[in-house]
Amino acid sequence: MYKITLIPGDGVGPEVTEAAKRVLEATGVPLEWDIQEAGEEIYQKEGTPLPERVFDSIRKNKISLKGPITTPVGSGFRSVNVLLRQTLNLFCCLRPCKSYAGAKTEYKNIDLVIIRENTEDLYAGIEYQKGSEGAHSIIESVKRINGKTIRMDSGISIKPISVYASERIVRFAFEYARKNKRQKVTAVHKANIMKYSDGLFLEVAREIAKKYSDIEFEDKIVDNMCMQLVQKPGLYDVLVLPNLYGDIVSDLAAGLIGGLGLAPGANIGDEFAVFEATHGSAPRYKGLNKVNPMAMILSGVMMLRHIGEVTAAEKLDNALASVIKEGKSVTYDIKSTPDDASAATTSEVADAIIKKIS
Ligand code: NAD
Repeated sequence: MYKITLIPGDGVGPEVTEAAKRVLEATGVPLEWDIQEAGEEIYQKEGTPLPERVFDSIRKNKISLKGPITTPVGSGFRSVNVLLRQTLNLFCCLRPCKSYAGAKTEYKNIDLVIIRENTEDLYAGIEYQKGSEGAHSIIESVKRINGKTIRMDSGISIKPISVYASERIVRFAFEYARKNKRQKVTAVHKANIMKYSDGLFLEVAREIAKKYSDIEFEDKIVDNMCMQLVQKPGLYDVLVLPNLYGDIVSDLAAGLIGGLGLAPGANIGDEFAVFEATHGSAPRYKGLNKVNPMAMILSGVMMLRHIGEVTAAEKLDNALASVIKEGKSVTYDIKSTPDDASAATTSEVADAIIKKIS
């Protein structure tokens, strides 16, 4: 019996996690769920969107399946997702983007893996509000140290990139490539402009690459990378990126395969792993039983592989692929027009996949 911490999340989270839970149970893998609520409503009830009990549960079970959680924009509580990744040292965000026949996209045969550093960069959460003592102190220090002027009415976010975290994520990318018989790793950066942060990431990537002579290595500047992915995605294989670019490029890659409804992910550390879709809580769709649960289900497929249930993972992946290919029991985002009245609901998609498994 595998004990898994299940975090339903908020917005569409409870709907997609319920669908994933049912489908995963149908594979026959013995799973026991430790359900831990977190997110917006818990913030109202318990004064924090991410109570300590959630960490305790993940620390105990080691594995979690998590729905999306809303982060208020501009103000309010800080991202629960970022906090979870930092606290549990889930240093790698692994986001495969693979084409499924029948998905609604101009692109065919996409098979990319995005490996995003998850703990530092502009997501480190080191920020100073405009007018604060911290902001003023930094502005004065910068003036003193290198004579540069930052306007006094500036808000400041710090972008730390370390040798330690860069080595760890680039090594992960090469090990992943080797284990999964991938040909090439591309390091993505903006080292031409940010010489001491992205430049350091690139320097480390080049050093690590020397130890993996069996795998091709190249680097690309992030803006060019975005254009390349839109024009010639077939040239790329495994991408390794600092946190912010990784976040943005993941959504771009999701767009190539037909949207966020099909893009799974995992946050992986040395001790724990939290599996969650790339998409957020899509609040507009909350409670409508409408959004695509496949990204969440595919995150569950990644979870099955991670715990060694490879046969069940393949079975589920194939069942899902065949539901997409048939095109009948799929949600609005996979139909040729979004208002197609024959679009399946979230739970109907789960039912159709379960039918294929059994
Ligand atoms: P989002 O990913 O929630 O939704 C953007 C759009 O993508 C939706 O309006 C919808 O059209 C589409 N979409 C998303 N999920 C879909 C699905 N399963 N099926 C079909 N279509 C889908 O992004 P957002 O609106 O920018 O963010 C909403 C909230 O989610 C924010 O508070 C954000 O901070 C949070 N968020 C959380 C996570 C996470 O929990 N890991 C990740 C990203 C965003």
